Amino acid sequence: MDVLVVGAGPTGLTLACDLARRGVTVRVIDRAPEFPRGSRGKGLSPRSLEVFDDLGVIDRLLAAGTTHLPHRKYRGAEVVAEVDPEAGRVATPGVPYPVGLLVPQWRVEQILRERLADFGVTVERGAELRTFTQDVGGVTATVGETEIRARYVVGCDGGHSTVRRTLGLRLHGETPDIQLMAVGDVEVDGLGRDAWHQWFADGGAVMLCPLPGTDAFQVQASHELAPDGTPLEPSLETFQRTFDRVAGVPGVRLHDLTWRSTYRVNVRMVDRLRVGRVFLAGDAAHVHPIAGGLGMNTGVQDAYNLGWKIGHVLAGEAGEPLLDTYDEERLPVASRVLDITSERLDAVLAAIKESGGGVDAVSAPELTQLQLDYRWSRLSRNLTSHPDGLRAGDRAPMSGLSRGTHFQAYQVGNTQVLVRPDGYIGLIADVNDTSAAADYLRSLSREE
Ligand SMILES: Cc1cc2nc3c(=O)[nH]c(=O)nc-3n(C[C@H](O)[C@H](O)[C@H](O)COP(=O)(O)OP(=O)(O)OC[C@H]3O[C@@H](n4cnc5c(N)ncnc54)[C@H](O)[C@@H]3O)c2cc1C
Repeated sequence: MDVLVVGAGPTGLTLACDLARRGVTVRVIDRAPEFPRGSRGKGLSPRSLEVFDDLGVIDRLLAAGTTHLPHRKYRGAEVVAEVDPEAGRVATPGVPYPVGLLVPQWRVEQILRERLADFGVTVERGAELRTFTQDVGGVTATVGETEIRARYVVGCDGGHSTVRRTLGLRLHGETPDIQLMAVGDVEVDGLGRDAWHQWFADGGAVMLCPLPGTDAFQVQASHELAPDGTPLEPSLETFQRTFDRVAGVPGVRLHDLTWRSTYRVNVRMVDRLRVGRVFLAGDAAHVHPIAGGLGMNTGVQDAYNLGWKIGHVLAGEAGEPLLDTYDEERLPVASRVLDITSERLDAVLAAIKESGGGVDAVSAPELTQLQLDYRWSRLSRNLTSHPDGLRAGDRAPMSGLSRGTHFQAYQVGNTQVLVRPDGYIGLIADVNDTSAAADYLRSLSREE
């Protein structure tokens, strides 16, 4: 077997889909006995939508989600402001998905599992990775009571990653002393499903966001406190109490709580993503504030960066050193994500102190993830300039070329451009330089 993917969250499922469509033999294990139904992450970025277009699930996702949901901010029952933070963004041929998609994480996972089933792969539930050892030829993983041998293992096993722990790696960083937030999925009588409803007051915050394709809202709220000041476990009763205290709108009733959790801000990441034949991706490698909704999206893009590289090495089209570029390219991105999500969290915390302020203050162009580039990567080669000012390492404008599992070439004027399988430009060269593309591809297989 080629690759064992540990963890069937959005990161592991994206990776497994990308590997399976390349003909790589893959097993996906998850220790949870049941698939999760809690909303958790609820937004896909424009760049993630491009990834999912390439993986063949975009139509299912668009049908399951919604866009342009207005943010409606209140004082009591009075609406003090309403805004669509993504108003005016228009699709173009190069940017077909200009706005994010609101869709609960469990639904994204369900759609990815369906896609994986198209390739004959089923997630193995109740299968817990306990430990592993590696040697020059592969990895031997202990899963439950059995052993699984794979050429590579990828730990997509979330914030408490067993893979990370077994590698002896730590999440470095901090857990800032910011209040906890209670999160849950709940049905609500007395509120429309046409907006993300938000209340901020001195005594706390409460937000209710309708989850598309369900009757539920995601509730995010300040914690209720016990008389001694300790936060109470979130429950239907505590959510209703916070709502009544902060919003105070009569006639709004919360019921049928199906999932609840407590969210704590962490700003942490590992200092390497690969040890030999074992990799880390997603929350297993970095955890950061949810401001901007980059958690699920960054994991999806870790997976998309790694999938083609493992695929090429297994197919003999590239040498092992290509796998080092996963760490080289994605660690700086993770570090930037920690910075931007911390900045955006501060922006939101400042905005909600003002009347009419809300979580739309999070907005920043970087949150689309379309600007992200790998210009500094050793995989980026500029032999001439591009007529549109693009550089190797930039995201290639989305087109038919952005789909598929291999490098693809296009020409603009006298310039030839080679696009990597993950949609970033690898090479820009003069069209008369007939050996440039072959040299570039050959360099991937050099063992240096
Ligand atoms: C309350 C809450 C609210 C959130 N809100 C947002 C949001 O609004 N926007 C956003 O973008 N993100 C949000 N996030 C973060 C987002 O959910 C995560 O970033 C995302 O789930 C990361 O995906 P992942 O696939 O890397 O890891 P996970 O989704 O954590 O998946 C890891 C999987 O690995 C499995 N696993 C763990 N250990 C083992 C083992 N030893 N063996 C086998 N399987 C194992 C687990 O069962 C799990 O299924 C939120 C998270 C929480 C908890």
